[in-house]
Amino acid sequence: MKHHKPTHECGVFAVFGHPNAAVLTYYGLFALQHRGQESAGIVTANGSNTPFNRHVDMGLVAQVFSPADLERLKGTRSIGHVRYSTTGSSNLKNAQPLMVNCARGQLAIGHNGNLVNAGLLRDELEQRGSIFQTTVDSEIILHLLAQPTESGGVLAALRKIQGAYSLVMMSEREIIGVRDPFGFRPLSLGMLDGAYVLSSETCAFDLIHAEFIREIEPGEVVIISEKGIRSEFPFKVEKRAFCMFEYVYFARPDSIISDVNVARVRTEMGRELARLHPVEADIVVPVPDSGNYAAFGFAEELGIPYDHAFVRNHYIGRTFLQPTQLIRDFNVRVKLNLIKEAVAGKRVVVVDDSIVRGTTARARVVNMREAGAKEVHMRISCPPHKHACHYGIDFPDPEKLLANQCSLDQIRDYLGADSIGYLDVAGMVRASGQRESDFCLACFNGDYPVPVDPSVDKFIMERRRYGNLLTGDDDQPELFEPVR
Ligand code: AMP
Repeated sequence: MKHHKPTHECGVFAVFGHPNAAVLTYYGLFALQHRGQESAGIVTANGSNTPFNRHVDMGLVAQVFSPADLERLKGTRSIGHVRYSTTGSSNLKNAQPLMVNCARGQLAIGHNGNLVNAGLLRDELEQRGSIFQTTVDSEIILHLLAQPTESGGVLAALRKIQGAYSLVMMSEREIIGVRDPFGFRPLSLGMLDGAYVLSSETCAFDLIHAEFIREIEPGEVVIISEKGIRSEFPFKVEKRAFCMFEYVYFARPDSIISDVNVARVRTEMGRELARLHPVEADIVVPVPDSGNYAAFGFAEELGIPYDHAFVRNHYIGRTFLQPTQLIRDFNVRVKLNLIKEAVAGKRVVVVDDSIVRGTTARARVVNMREAGAKEVHMRISCPPHKHACHYGIDFPDPEKLLANQCSLDQIRDYLGADSIGYLDVAGMVRASGQRESDFCLACFNGDYPVPVDPSVDKFIMERRRYGNLLTGDDDQPELFEPVR
C-alpha cells in the first residue's frame, strides 16, 4: 500500500501592487526552485471584484509557464508556489496555489510546511459537510477560512492549525503572509518600486532587485492591502524552533536567514567538523553541491588542499524509470563522475552535508576506491539523522534512516570508509551563531517542539483514502439512505 505523505518541501512567493506581478513571481519562483520541483503555480488578481487568474502545472518553473501563460496572468497582485513531493505521482490536483470561490469571495493559498493535526481537522470539517478536492493539508486552511459561520476570519482559522506553516494567501482585498508561532520555515518581506514582496528565501529578492526589509517574525501575520501593511500577532509564542536543516541542506547558500548568510553557516559547520574530527589527509573532496561549503571550511581549517574531484551533471531532472537494480545503479552514477587522477593514491576526505539512507555516501566511497584512493574518510556536517521530520522536510520513515538502525562503526563499515565523523549539535549551533533553543533539532534528537501523534493523524488520513485499515472494509457512508 502506498502511504499518503502530507509532505511539503515548498517555496512561496507573493507581490502586492506591481504592474508586472506575474513576471516578478515567475522569477521569484525560479530562485526558489530548489525548494520544490514537482509543480509550480501562480494566481494573480487586479483588485476587488475581478476574477483571479490561475495557472499551475506539473514540472519545473521553466516548463510550467509559457510567455502566453504569463501574459494571461494579468494583475498587480500575485502569489506563487513551487512544490516538491517524493511520491512522483502526477497529481495536478495537489499543485498550488489552491484557489476557491466561497462565501468570503475568492481565496488563494500557497503553503510551505506540514500541519500535524491535518487528519483530525479534515475529519471534523468533512463531518460538517466540507468537500475536499485535493489530498494536501493546505486545503484544510482554505476550508477553515471559508466557513461562513465562523467569526474571526483568518486569525480564527489559523488558531486551529498546528505544525509548520509559512503561508501566502490572497483574498479580494489583501495579500496575507503568515509564519507559524515556532517559525519552522523561513519567510521574508521585501520591497520593489513601492510594491511589497514576500518570499520563502531572500535569494529571490536578489534576483528581482527587491530590497530585503526584514523577516516575518514567528507567529506574525502581515496583512498587505491598498491601505498599506500591518501586522497581527494572534498566537502565544512559546519558543522559536527554526528548522536547522534549512541551514544544513535545504535553503539556498546565497539566502540570509536570521541575519546570517546560509553559505557562511555551512562553511563554519565545516570548520567545526574539522576541529571535532580532524584527520591527516592529502585532499578534501566535497559531494557537490550539498557538501561544497562544509568541505571548503573543513579544508581551510586543517590546511588541506580542496579539490572538486566530483563532476556534476546538471541536466538530470527527475527520472521515472522503474527502480530495478540496474536502474538504481545508473541513477547513483549519472549525477556525479569522479576525476580519477585527482584522487588516485591519495588519502581523501569526502565531505557531505548529511546521510539519510546512506545510498549517496556509500556510492561515493565506492567511486573513491575504484579510482584508487589510498584512504577514504567520510565527514558529515550535521549530526546523525535518527528521527522523522513532521514539519515539512521529506525524510523516509525512521527505520530507513541509516543512523536510526546502525551504530557509528556499523555505518563506517556499511559505507566502506576508513573512518566516519559527524558534526555534533553543539558545533552546528555554534556555526549558526545562535542559541540551541532557537532551533528545531527533532530529526537529530527526537525533541519535537509541537507534539505529534503521527499514528493518530496518519491513521485518519489513510483510513479515509483506503477504507478501514483494520477490517479492510470500505467504511464510506452510503449516499442514499435505504427507504423503510
Ligand atoms: P542518502 O543517499 O539517502 O543518504 O541521501 C543523502 C543525500 O541526499 C545527501 O547528499 C543530502 O545532501 C541529500 N539530502 C538530504 N536530505 C534530503 C532531502 N530531504 N531530500 C532530498 N535530498 C536530501
